[in-house]
Amino acid sequence: MSESSPRRVKMLVIGSGPAGLTAALYAARANLAPVVLSGADLGGQVSKTYTIENYPGFPEGVGGQELVGYFREQAERFGAEILYDEAVSVHLRERPFRVETYEEVFLAETLILATGASPRELNIPGEEEFVGRGVSYCATCDGHFFRGREVIVVGGGDSALEETLYLTRHASTVTVIHRRSELRAGALLQQRAKAHAKVRFVWDTVLTEILGNEAVEKVRLRNVVTGEEREMKTDGVFIFIGHLPNVSLFAGQIETTSRGYLRINDKMQTSVPGVYAAGEVADPRFRQVITSAGMGAAAAMQAIHDLEERGE
Ligand code: NAP
Repeated sequence: MSESSPRRVKMLVIGSGPAGLTAALYAARANLAPVVLSGADLGGQVSKTYTIENYPGFPEGVGGQELVGYFREQAERFGAEILYDEAVSVHLRERPFRVETYEEVFLAETLILATGASPRELNIPGEEEFVGRGVSYCATCDGHFFRGREVIVVGGGDSALEETLYLTRHASTVTVIHRRSELRAGALLQQRAKAHAKVRFVWDTVLTEILGNEAVEKVRLRNVVTGEEREMKTDGVFIFIGHLPNVSLFAGQIETTSRGYLRINDKMQTSVPGVYAAGEVADPRFRQVITSAGMGAAAAMQAIHDLEERGE
């Protein structure tokens, strides 16, 4: 954080996924000169997605990084400023809202919180120890390390199967381990995964431990129906068991839902007037690029309207 005087902005967007960058696009087009704090990764989870096949306008699909690049270019073209910086503290009790980053201090008339969500962890022995040495939460990031190797995927939702199919590009086999005997994922993904020669399924089973020396070598499994325990050799463990909203920055200052997501109304307003939320930090349900982008647009439109009402 710098010692220079705070910089006043009409809108500060925290987060640079589809929600944040779309909010910035709309605000920039309304001449608000929004500033976006990118967070650790420009584009958030999208930038770690290999291909996106359900974002309209791209009939052949589009690379995650490529799409983020377009979002950024479009927002910048209208005057949004995207900073490779992170908010380290946020003060929501007084308006303008004070936001401290690694580099600067902002006083923002409106805030759009678009901090997204992070992968949920299994919380089993060995998981943390082997992150980066066989345990991963991102197939696009780490899949290529497993060329010709055997890997495990944990989870039974859309993410698990989508990433499973991606991993078949590299791995020799992908074993999906799911805690039930029925997948949560959509029918099309289920069909594709079940038909794939490299993919196999282990049902009603949970991981209880990840073991190895320098890197992951095996996992301990428990069948939740029979109680039977066994070990399975593997080179990698990819975990896709859902996400948790990134709300710690706002703890105690803003209302959350019983599931821990930011509570918003149908105008994307949070419990603090002048603070809006969009994307996965406020959406446990849809979690799509298109829905997050839509929420970002709506949040910005409402913020623009509210600023006009205040004569800003
Ligand atoms: P999800 O739908 O919540 O699925 C999480 C999976 O992990 C479930 O199968 C769940 O098992 C399992 N799980 C949760 N906690 C676990 C634990 N502690 N141990 C073992 N397994 C555990 O999460 P997601 O797959 O990340 O998807 C989230 C949302 O994004 C969904 O709405 C999804 O449709 C959407 N999404 C869509 C696409 C797409 O359309 N192409 C791609 C990715 C995500 P149970 O089934 O037993 O609960």
